[in-house]
Amino acid sequence: RAVAELAAHDPDGAYALAGANGWERRLERALRARRRRTRLTHPLVVEELAARGSFGVTELEVFADCSSIWLFDRIVSPRTIDAEVDARQRGSVAHSALSRFFGGLPKRVGTERIDAERLDETLAFLRECLEEAVAGVRLELTALERAELTGGLWLDLEASIRAEAELDSPLVPRRFEVSFGSDRSPQELQRGLDLGGFTITGKIDRIDVDPFSARGIVQDYKSGKTAHSAAQIDSELRLQIPLYLLVLRDLVGIEPLGGVYRALSGKREARGLLRAEAREDGVPGFSQNDYLDEEAFWGQVELAQGRARGLVERIRLGDVRHDPKSGECPDWCELFSMCRVARA
Ligand code: SF4
Repeated sequence: RAVAELAAHDPDGAYALAGANGWERRLERALRARRRRTRLTHPLVVEELAARGSFGVTELEVFADCSSIWLFDRIVSPRTIDAEVDARQRGSVAHSALSRFFGGLPKRVGTERIDAERLDETLAFLRECLEEAVAGVRLELTALERAELTGGLWLDLEASIRAEAELDSPLVPRRFEVSFGSDRSPQELQRGLDLGGFTITGKIDRIDVDPFSARGIVQDYKSGKTAHSAAQIDSELRLQIPLYLLVLRDLVGIEPLGGVYRALSGKREARGLLRAEAREDGVPGFSQNDYLDEEAFWGQVELAQGRARGLVERIRLGDVRHDPKSGECPDWCELFSMCRVARA
């Protein structure tokens, strides 16, 4: 290992040392590991990828982030031996709690949307939903770990519901965890979103509708602090909201007024794509920069479809590279030991 490291800045010295000790082949092998081709070439793998007909929307976003992340996170998918509550698990508990909460709100509190006048009983119900969701976690957690998970999520969810009470939206949360493109989806959504030659699958966290017309918005909860604005949806190659808008229109049968990412922590912003023409009548109160005129709004949806097609084409070809979208590997990506990207 020391000789291979030496080869990075003094190749002649490293080869001389290896030659003197009979380590030439071992050194060659160590150096080749970094030069290994990234493209998938095994005939069975290539055949399987080429035959794929459906793709998850979040899977495509991961591929857009870096195709090597897609390979190791989604395909190789190594797991730690000791299961632990990671960000993904935490997010899944938050989603489950919110789905129970909004689904049960009309029956339990007697209101369809969050009523600022009845916040105490609303929050008491939210707490019950959270505890039920935590009880459903299949990992073996100690009492302390469960209490930590509940306590941490409670801070986020309570603040998020309080923030939503202030929004005073005319829309009513109506459908939750709406899956499309799978056998478990409602029948009318099972075929998935057809983009020509393949279908998109996924799950919309929440659909809010206008109680007086077939219009509405999609919402996607983000357990972190980031809710992508209209501009960031484009620059960060996000696909969920633009493609969910098509699902809402073409599969659910509701005219989309917009779609937002709702961050559950940090400033708890709701940002996304909204139709400017529905600003006064349907979706008031969001960030000014996220209201787009019709051309820009549908242009972003069109762009997302084109990007999805390009990503699917690359997946079908096994076109894996070291290609983080910003051009540099982000600090949070810990896959370098598997993807074997050369690092400075
Ligand atoms: S370390 Fe870089 S190249 Fe490797 S998977 Fe992560 S982002 Fe991609």
